[in-house]
Amino acid sequence: MLFRAASVVLLFLCLNFFWDIKTVNYALGALLMVWIILSIRGMTSMRSRVFGKVYWRGSPKGKSVALTFDDGPTAPYTAQILDVLAMHNVNATFFVIGENLKDNPALARRIHAEGHEMGNHTMSHPWMFRMLFSSIREDILLCQDEIEKNTGYRPRFFRQPVGINNPSVMKVIDGLGMVMIGWQARAYDAVPTEKGKIINRILSRIRPGGIILLHDGCDGKTNSDRNATVDALKEIIPALKKRGYEFKTVSELIGIKNQVCHSEATPKDQHLNKSADSSLRSE
Ligand SMILES: [Zn+2]
Repeated sequence: MLFRAASVVLLFLCLNFFWDIKTVNYALGALLMVWIILSIRGMTSMRSRVFGKVYWRGSPKGKSVALTFDDGPTAPYTAQILDVLAMHNVNATFFVIGENLKDNPALARRIHAEGHEMGNHTMSHPWMFRMLFSSIREDILLCQDEIEKNTGYRPRFFRQPVGINNPSVMKVIDGLGMVMIGWQARAYDAVPTEKGKIINRILSRIRPGGIILLHDGCDGKTNSDRNATVDALKEIIPALKKRGYEFKTVSELIGIKNQVCHSEATPKDQHLNKSADSSLRSE
C-alpha cells in the first residue's frame, strides 16, 4: 500500500515537472531516488517489507533455527537429505517445485510421511517479474494442487523463485491467504560450490531464530548436483546442535499454521474441483 501511494505521489510530481518549478523538481529528484532504492531493496532482499511482510526468522530469543530446502524433490538428493534429517531426528520445511513433485510422487509422500512440511515454490519456477498477475496466480495454484494431491493439505507458505520479489507476487499470495517465507542464512548452493563453503556460510551467518536456505533440487535450468549440500548438511546439523540450537519447522519457528485442508481453504485458493475452478475463472 505504501509503495503504491509513493508511486502515485511520484506520478503527480512528474506532471509538475513540466511546470518547471525548481523546488518541486528537487523534491521530485529526491523522491525518485528513494523510490528507486526502495524498489531495489524490495526486489532483492527477502527480508524487506517494502512490498509486504516477509517472514525470514522467528523469535531471536532462545536458540531455534529452521532448515528449509528449495527446488526439490529430486532424485537422489532429496532422499539422501531425508536420511540425514532422520538420522538426527530433525524436521524441516521443503519448498517444492510442482513439476518436480509431479515427477517424484514417492519422494513427496516420504517428505510428508516423515513429518516434514511442504511449502509452495511455484509449479514451474519461473522468473515472475516478467509474468502477468493472472499467470503468477495460475502457476502458484497448480503447485498448490500438486501438494494437496500428495499430502492432503494446501500450504500457506510460499517462497519466491530466484529470490527476486515483486508487488504482484505479494498481492497474489495475500489474496490466496498465503505468506511469503524468506531466509536469514543461505549458502548459495544452487550454483556449483564446495561442501566447506556451504558449511562456513551457514555456520558463520546463522543467528537465533534464523531460517536457513539450502537446495535439494533444481528447476532443470541450473546446476543439478547437490552432493555438496548433502555432505555439508551432515556436518551443519551436529555443529549447530553443539552450539545449543534446536531445530524446528518454519511453522513452529514463526508460529503460523502452514497446513490448510481443502475445506478450510478460501474460495480463491481452491483449484482442484470444477466448481471452485470455474468460480476462480469467472472473477
Ligand atoms: Zn528456487
